[in-house]
Amino acid sequence: MKQKAPQTKVLSYDLGGTKVAAGVVNSRGKILDEIRVPVEIEKGKTAVLNQLCDLGQQLLAKHPTIKSVGIASAGPLDPYKGVLLDPTNFASSKGTWGKVEITKILAKKLKRTVYLENDAAAAMLAEHWIGAAKGYDNAMILTLGTGLGTGVISDGKLLRAGRHLHPEAGHLIIHNDDQSAPCGCGNLGCAEAYLSGRSFARRARPRFANPNLVPKDIAELARKRDPRAVAAFDEYAHLMAIALHNYAVIYSPEIVVFTGSFAEASDLFIDETQKNLEKLLARRRVGVDLMPKLAVSTLDNKAGLVGGAYVAFNR
Ligand SMILES: [Zn+2]
Repeated sequence: MKQKAPQTKVLSYDLGGTKVAAGVVNSRGKILDEIRVPVEIEKGKTAVLNQLCDLGQQLLAKHPTIKSVGIASAGPLDPYKGVLLDPTNFASSKGTWGKVEITKILAKKLKRTVYLENDAAAAMLAEHWIGAAKGYDNAMILTLGTGLGTGVISDGKLLRAGRHLHPEAGHLIIHNDDQSAPCGCGNLGCAEAYLSGRSFARRARPRFANPNLVPKDIAELARKRDPRAVAAFDEYAHLMAIALHNYAVIYSPEIVVFTGSFAEASDLFIDETQKNLEKLLARRRVGVDLMPKLAVSTLDNKAGLVGGAYVAFNR
């Protein structure tokens, strides 16, 4: 019997609310070719879908043997049906997206098989495949950017929530009714409302005279030992430890990997977070030690793209 030749490379997308990347990735997770551009969210759904097609066609013209395509996208979405479920971050002045059969649409235009995955799940799969969580059967990632994305590998497999949904642990409420912590989901006091890079900056800014500081500026000040910036990171490490305690008792990861743009500031909070977390988990370290290793992504901002490729190779 003739065996089907294994695929050597696939096309992958990482679709977010601000940027879209398309890339060609080989079976070892190496990115061979990549285009990264601002996503045309303001022009509406059809424009963005056309943008995806254009990027894909450019790459497929150079790599015509590719058969499979993986899309890592902001959610919510149904990965099995290949449908976007009115993604929160894609709404614009042109309106919301509603349900979009994105894999069907792209499959028709690109003439390839197309798969869909939540971007945080894709990042988790990438870290488990070739990144910081390689070799761990139980792992978690936190993507620290405009939001707080989470992904979990449990017993070697990606963990899903019910109804094909993704476990949105960034919206576990830490302080109910905390007016100082409004979350994009409409509630107050979610983990995301303290721990995303954007939330960190929003909470830290009142300590300074300059209302325009971005997370990077505050990190720079903290590295110069500015006491206001150091205090902001201390508060952040305190809250991060509370969130990680909750994740540890629910998911018991052996390793937690920080990724996303704000993970660049990990050196400013990781040690203090570890100390705080060790205290919160002290009693739980006697039987089964729930204290996870805290690590930083080794995939830069490529985890979504690599994870999309993982799905195209393996689903
Ligand atoms: Zn929330």
